[in-house]
Amino acid sequence: MNLYQMTIENLEKYFVNIGEKKFKATQVFEWLYQKREENVANFTNIKKEIRERLEKDFTTDLPSIIKREKDVDVEKFLFLLRDGEKIEAVLMRHNYGLSICVSSQVGCNMGCKFCESGRLKKVRNLSADEMVGQILAIEKEIKERISSVVIMGIGEPLDNYENVIDFIKIINHPKAIAIGARHITLSTCGIIPKMKSLSEIPLQINLAISLHASNNELRNKLMPINKGYPLPDLIEAIKEYIAKTNRRVTIEYILLKNVNDSTFHAHELANLLRGLNVYVNLIPYNETNHIEFKKSEKKNIDLFYQTLKEEKINVTVRREFGSKISAACGQLRSKEV
Ligand code: SAH
Repeated sequence: MNLYQMTIENLEKYFVNIGEKKFKATQVFEWLYQKREENVANFTNIKKEIRERLEKDFTTDLPSIIKREKDVDVEKFLFLLRDGEKIEAVLMRHNYGLSICVSSQVGCNMGCKFCESGRLKKVRNLSADEMVGQILAIEKEIKERISSVVIMGIGEPLDNYENVIDFIKIINHPKAIAIGARHITLSTCGIIPKMKSLSEIPLQINLAISLHASNNELRNKLMPINKGYPLPDLIEAIKEYIAKTNRRVTIEYILLKNVNDSTFHAHELANLLRGLNVYVNLIPYNETNHIEFKKSEKKNIDLFYQTLKEEKINVTVRREFGSKISAACGQLRSKEV
């Protein structure tokens, strides 16, 4: 086990099991996340025997940064994991602070037709410490604090549910990195049963759904997951999620030239979403090696946006980041092997 994969509850259980007081868990969190001490031997307010026991039971290594590439307001970090696998995370500078886009799996099995990251089939899930580690390693490298986290890198987070939830609990904890739940966004292609589980845990995080199509037939062509969890069921699941959590959901919609970007599609999307507490985030497509997909022209993006506005749907266009260094959505790991 790695110490950074432990939620406070699990660490408390561990201490109780070895006949120690629960509050030791808080002390460990303070060392790891507030003092950023990676070496258990230096946890000086904890008895030597306990430190030795911790060293016996846990490792504390973090993923290492092996490459850093910069573009305007964005940087991409390549990480080496302990078994030799590699993943990427992206740091973005906004006027409101720093955000990081973390990966949740090595590769991805969802097979979305337009996404480069999905070309590499899933090798394995990331453990919670490998996700926490992306944040800690980047903060250490840049000597600044990150204020928001999006789980939108490589992988499908709801296909790695338990570890992703532990990761969220750890970074959200006030004694750990203390990133507010409202500053954490999980993006999914729509694994319905896991959306239900997510709605039942009391974490006020943001949920984003990669919708990308305004009807079932089109979504089937773009996203294989739609065969298992079709669009009408997904819309129903979003409705239930909103009813249960009282939270607004983000709908992600990539604009693909001549595929889903006409005013017909905009009206269809508006009809699909009418009455739901959602807002649509339009994503200009980042071109990849999938030559069949092209970015929509600016005028079509504007028209799509205007049409949704007129239909009284809340909508924004996602700011474009990092396509030069292949750090943009859907481009991660397109250059690294
Ligand atoms: N698996 C999760 C999270 C990873 S993808 C999900 O599907 O939501 C993060 C977002 O980037 C998703 O909305 C994804 O569909 C989108 N994306 C993938 N390829 C893209 C590309 N080439 N250009 C723009 N967005 C892309």
